[in-house]
Amino acid sequence: QKQIKLIQRPTGTPTKEDFEMVNAPIGDISEGEMLVKTVYISVDPYLRGRMNDTKSYIPPFELNQMISSGVVAQVVDSKSSLFEKGDMVLGSLPWQEFTIAKDNTVRKIDHTLAPASAYLSVLGMTGLTAYFGLLDIGKPKEGETVVVSGAAGAVGSIVGQIAKIKGAHVVGIAGSDEKVKFLIDELGFDAAINYKTQDVAEALREACPNGIDVYFENVGGEIADAVFPLLNNFARIPVCGAISSYNNEQVDVGPRVQGYLIKTSSLMQGFTIGNYASRFGEGAKDLATWLTEGKLKYEETITEGFDHTIDAFLDLFKGSNLGKAIVKVAEI
Ligand code: NDP
Repeated sequence: QKQIKLIQRPTGTPTKEDFEMVNAPIGDISEGEMLVKTVYISVDPYLRGRMNDTKSYIPPFELNQMISSGVVAQVVDSKSSLFEKGDMVLGSLPWQEFTIAKDNTVRKIDHTLAPASAYLSVLGMTGLTAYFGLLDIGKPKEGETVVVSGAAGAVGSIVGQIAKIKGAHVVGIAGSDEKVKFLIDELGFDAAINYKTQDVAEALREACPNGIDVYFENVGGEIADAVFPLLNNFARIPVCGAISSYNNEQVDVGPRVQGYLIKTSSLMQGFTIGNYASRFGEGAKDLATWLTEGKLKYEETITEGFDHTIDAFLDLFKGSNLGKAIVKVAEI
């Protein structure tokens, strides 16, 4: 079976040369283990951080070892009383076609409620990130203005829709006209801005006549610089990500934000989704309810074939994905 390993730490933007595809035997299962077949692999921007040898909230990947991420898999053989052949499971698993998993490292998912891939998108890590970051830190109120960057991606697209459910005026920032159109026409955003072709500061002034109450930060850099001058008093800024700097070789320096925060008494708070682990059930329940009520839509960009996993990961930094980027490895 095929596996994908990290063979050198990327400098700047990762390239295919940083990874290696190898063949390895599958092995045998012992008591309390299952053999699972990888069905969907989640590719995520945060994995870039784990490729650096730096201290963070999660340990770095080791060189010459497999990358791992959120994976939906199917049990093909089981020596566990908890799982049987055919069960669909979710876990943080290595990038390979089959894995021998201990039964306490994965959890069962019900793919009759929602397609299995949704457990990596709207009902999974990125949906929950949108939910808790926006509602627990952003706390949007009816009539307030919410701006979200990375708006057409996995997290951003859900943030904007939840903000609409809460009655906010929602403005998205994304990297193509197609994405802008999608946000407005398909997801019901009030306005959207193409940061690659528009003057973001000017477009924001126009789209946010009452200023900005919540800025859900996914990208950082120059886009964030354009947002801060428009903050209202007591604005909230959940800092979810800063993808524009993930491939920087030098520390990012920009306008200092302190003055804006002081002037407006705004709250800026970083978070990782792991902070909310004890409340995932609550988030998943609301997301599933909105989904069945038709209040929430989700988009996935599915790349077919294990051999294209690295391409799908690299594409995140080119903005090729609409909604959640997922690799489909096998049929269920
Ligand atoms: P996305 O689905 O949004 O994919 C990444 C998107 O980022 C691309 O499609 C691209 O869209 C945009 N992008 C890439 N490079 C740049 C750049 N230089 N400047 C601006 N935009 C860029 O990924 P996710 O939704 O999974 O993640 C979004 C953010 O949330 C990331 O920063 C991620 O690290 C963070 N995150 C944080 C979590 C947490 O626990 N704190 C959990 C999950 C995600 P475009 O075409 O618009 O440029």
